[in-house]
Amino acid sequence: MDYFPAFLDIRNRPCLIVGGGDIALRKARLLSKASATLTIIAPNISGPLSDLAVEKGHRLAKRKFRSSDVLGNWLVVSATGNAAVEASVFKSACSAGIFCNGVDSVANCSYITPAIVDRSPVIVAISSGGAAPVLVRKLRGQIETMLPNGISRLAALARDWRGRVGKHLGDVLARRRFWEAVFEGPSAQLAIAGDITAAEIAMSALLEDSSVQQDGEAWLVGAGPGDPGLLTLRALQIMQTADVIVHDRLVSGQVLDLARRDADLISVGKSPGCTANSQEQINALLVELVSSGKRVCRLKGGDPFIFGRGGEEIAALSKENLKCQVVPGITAAAGCAASAGIPLTHRNVSQSVAFVTAHGKDSIDNLDWASLARDKQTLAFYMSVKRLSDLMNNLIENGRSAATPVAFIEKGATPEQRVIRGTLGQLTLLAEAHRIVAPAILIVGEVAAYGIAEVGDDRYMPVKYTNPDYMITQKG
Ligand code: SAH
Repeated sequence: MDYFPAFLDIRNRPCLIVGGGDIALRKARLLSKASATLTIIAPNISGPLSDLAVEKGHRLAKRKFRSSDVLGNWLVVSATGNAAVEASVFKSACSAGIFCNGVDSVANCSYITPAIVDRSPVIVAISSGGAAPVLVRKLRGQIETMLPNGISRLAALARDWRGRVGKHLGDVLARRRFWEAVFEGPSAQLAIAGDITAAEIAMSALLEDSSVQQDGEAWLVGAGPGDPGLLTLRALQIMQTADVIVHDRLVSGQVLDLARRDADLISVGKSPGCTANSQEQINALLVELVSSGKRVCRLKGGDPFIFGRGGEEIAALSKENLKCQVVPGITAAAGCAASAGIPLTHRNVSQSVAFVTAHGKDSIDNLDWASLARDKQTLAFYMSVKRLSDLMNNLIENGRSAATPVAFIEKGATPEQRVIRGTLGQLTLLAEAHRIVAPAILIVGEVAAYGIAEVGDDRYMPVKYTNPDYMITQKG
């Protein structure tokens, strides 16, 4: 971070503007908006700037700048258009320990002013530290359209209610709940639309509704296979409002970076072979957190209902009569296949897809291998890297051709993704030769020979690997 962002309270504090033209006028207007007390110094001061000074009671001095002029001010702006004067203003301000903005040169700035979207009392400030002014303008435009003018009314209403809410609700958590319900509900819409009376009626009702402030709730949220771009908007919204995020080991760091800053993050990683957090312990933790009034985001890799034990967690919560909702996610098979360019179903090639887990001995024995071995279907095997020889033998013994294409997608939809293709008959060999590690998904079926290849100049083409033996494609 090259600059420290801050909002300054300059109400009734002396600030200095050196310069008397149009830019000085713009700066004087902005500083006046923030209620600074200005001294404006320049041999020539324009009519509009003089008028503003008279209107706001600022001091005017029609003369050249002197070094001692900076003393006693909180901020200095130099807008003279004269490089020598600007440098000398900057030097004087620096030696007096006062922040100075020279509008013509970054070299004469100890602070810079951001682009702003003003919905006072809400103000958004954007800066690229001078690196990309056009980008900053574009972002400002986008933010302008995202923030309706009525946001000002809503924020002002919240300010007026803060004292009352504070007196009524002693508990910090209850207060936060109340404000979240206000900002997500009809009160906010009414205030933005300008109907303050109706907004206040809705807020009074919320203030009296103790369930809004006390009830905990859980959301079982799918985080997708790793790439934060594959999160749903709803998942993001819940991650940004939850009090606690209870997440699996498979949820990527990049996804967790999007969580609310002050949310508690609890990892309940079930590493292979590690029993530190059994499913029962996780269920008990969720029940405890929600019962204590917390809003809990139970964040799971992929989709919570696909080999995610989401059903068991919901059962534990509903047994205790606790509220719970589910937000789907992109499951590993879909996310990884997309990333490798493998169509899970493909006209005339594969008419169905099965999501299968071949995890332990029991699940291997219980699978209907005769039906899984039938042609023209795609199989996506989860959690199966340890059981490859059983898997390969069962499929081949039940009639699936040893020449059927397969693809391992390791760490799919992440920057470390590897795609390794071959045939069913080579399955164990492939895994050994390429040292496949979890998490990896295995796709079996004709579609596993399909992919998308870079053909230069950032152009991509669908391809069919005709001789996929030991074919390896890696993400760049
Ligand atoms: N609920 C998850 C699956 C959990 S089981 C979902 O819907 O995706 C865990 C298994 O998912 C892993 O053993 C692996 O087979 C697969 N998996 C999850 N993330 C993956 C990724 N990024 N790349 C490849 N496989 C992944």
